[in-house]
Amino acid sequence: MSGGRTCLLFNGYTFFYRYKCRMGRKWCCTLFPKCKSHLYLDENNDILQISEFHEHVRNYLHKLNFYFSAQLITMVTGKQVLEYQGYTYYVQQKLKKNSRWVCTTYPNCKAYVRTNNNLYVVEKDTNHSHTKKVLYKTKTGLYTRL
Ligand SMILES: [Zn+2]
Ligand SMILES: [Zn+2]
Repeated sequence: MSGGRTCLLFNGYTFFYRYKCRMGRKWCCTLFPKCKSHLYLDENNDILQISEFHEHVRNYLHKLNFYFSAQLITMVTGKQVLEYQGYTYYVQQKLKKNSRWVCTTYPNCKAYVRTNNNLYVVEKDTNHSHTKKVLYKTKTGLYTRL
């Protein structure tokens, strides 16, 4: 992945902006052309179409080694949240061995995950009452939802 470019995080995979066409704005997997997965977003960055067929591990896996790992990301607001399968969570309870995270739209959404100290998800209820938001990684390395 080229450094400094804004990329988009969706479902644990990263995408870069390629071009605008009749379908919308096309974002391709950062492993393009090896991986042909792409998303189409409209002007408001809402997802129009998802074509995901990654045959590779999620881009952050080599760091964490666990398929079910979540990752801590920092939003441009300075808030640190947990990203897991495209949803964001904030810590509700921190215990010695694990933490309980609730959806950032809590109490509107009751989804939660519990992770151990390696951010491995050990327990979860991910029935979100809303759709995924697309996260963007900005040049500074912080994330935002446009
Ligand atoms: Zn891919
Ligand atoms: Zn939720």
